[in-house]
Amino acid sequence: MTFKLPALGYEYNALEPFIDARTMELHHSKHHKTYTDKFNLALETHPKLQGKSAEEIVANWEKLSDDIKQAVRNSGGGYINHSFFWQILKKNTVFKGEVAEAIKKKFGSFEEFKKKFSDEAMSLFGSGWTWLVVNKKGELEIVKTQNQDTPLSMGLSPVLTIDVWEHAYYLKYQNRRADYVEAFFNVINWVKVNEHFVNSRK
Ligand code: MN
Repeated sequence: MTFKLPALGYEYNALEPFIDARTMELHHSKHHKTYTDKFNLALETHPKLQGKSAEEIVANWEKLSDDIKQAVRNSGGGYINHSFFWQILKKNTVFKGEVAEAIKKKFGSFEEFKKKFSDEAMSLFGSGWTWLVVNKKGELEIVKTQNQDTPLSMGLSPVLTIDVWEHAYYLKYQNRRADYVEAFFNVINWVKVNEHFVNSRK
């Protein structure tokens, strides 16, 4: 069983100037590639996992045997989180659709949502991700995960995420995480985010 590094679906410079080409290239071709390779290596000796999706394997990492559970949690998590992240990035899409209505209903306004999401991304200590998810009640919620942990393990469906590991922004923004988070709001693919929202409530 081999999981493949997914193509971005756009050029490394597609998100300039908000996320620079060099960061995208390193992030995808080096960081994501390494997670992919290490995930595959961990699974090599576990043929019984054959046929399961990467998401299913990683979401249930705690039930795996001790020899691979941490590798699946970390590298498998890195594999699926980045695969998800690339999809929800695009310049010049419009905040609209069912997800936009649900965000306004839940948080009051787009600005309120942006503030709350940014505050959560800023207050995440160390490395991890901030997510907009749909919970089991079908409601939107903002959660954080440390390192490469996924909200799928908590029974939550990801709708939108920001990678707040330093490797996601350090070349361009250095220690200025706030500037990166602000820039991120210019490259959210609201069409894709809406798709995730709609699918998570089916
Ligand atoms: Mn990353």
